[in-house]
Amino acid sequence: MEKYIQAFKVAFVDTFDWTLDSILFHVPWYTNYFWGLFVISLIVWGLEILFPWRKNQSIFRKDFWLDAFYMFFNFFIFSIVITGVYKALGIFFADFGITAKSLAIIDVSRFSMWIQLLVFFILLDFVQWLTHVTLHRFNILWRFHKVHHSVKEMGFAAHLRYHWMENIFYKPLKVFGVMLLGGFEPEHAYIVHFIAITIGHLNHSNIKLTYGPLKYIFNNPVMHLYHHAYTLPDENRHGVNFGISLSIWDYIFKTNYVPEDSGTIELGYSDDTKMPKGFIKQMFYGFLPKD
Ligand SMILES: [Zn+2]
Ligand SMILES: [Zn+2]
Repeated sequence: MEKYIQAFKVAFVDTFDWTLDSILFHVPWYTNYFWGLFVISLIVWGLEILFPWRKNQSIFRKDFWLDAFYMFFNFFIFSIVITGVYKALGIFFADFGITAKSLAIIDVSRFSMWIQLLVFFILLDFVQWLTHVTLHRFNILWRFHKVHHSVKEMGFAAHLRYHWMENIFYKPLKVFGVMLLGGFEPEHAYIVHFIAITIGHLNHSNIKLTYGPLKYIFNNPVMHLYHHAYTLPDENRHGVNFGISLSIWDYIFKTNYVPEDSGTIELGYSDDTKMPKGFIKQMFYGFLPKD
């Protein structure tokens, strides 16, 4: 037990220090997720202001500040705590002989850097797509995912409005995906992470973008807005357009749905008026069957 607690403590302190060092610019710029997230947010927000899709939407739209807070909470405050938990769990599994190497199906380390990153990006995106589908499919998970779907006016910051439990749901499949690669996170994985943050921000932004024929590969604001649609088609009543960075999975598995692109559809879900308004109450939402 002692070693688990010790591992938790070390990881907790390390992540805390790393976050603090990031804020103070004491880490290499390309691994600085704190200011990286800040700069990407400013750029996408600027584009929303310059080229708005819904012209009458306020720059400080409904729940703007709530979402801005979520962004930093989910990215930093929560990760400080959870990294320690995962570290302790890793040691627990290693005690049973289960390590990141035990499931490896391909050795990507012999590929060139860009191929490594591409494989990492595609695999991680697919497992997240799959996780997202399950969040919609099972009521016990949907209760938490409702927080993300409680967005009524869409803007870039809504990207990271999600219940802290989602971090926990996404993690096992992400770890599994990385295990298939032999526990290998490419050295330059930060490139993939920054691309994913940018695409995620754009997907939620008030900008009309579809990337032309590339819309069949990359998720985009027009497609993702329909993921948040209040009214879903009968044949896909559990949801549509589950894509994270890539849209291709939805086209392959026939969960794609973009009937028009006015950008003015109603967002939310049938009993969304029951969602508490503030962050604290939303943190505790989802644990009761009635939620
Ligand atoms: Zn969803
Ligand atoms: Zn979304």
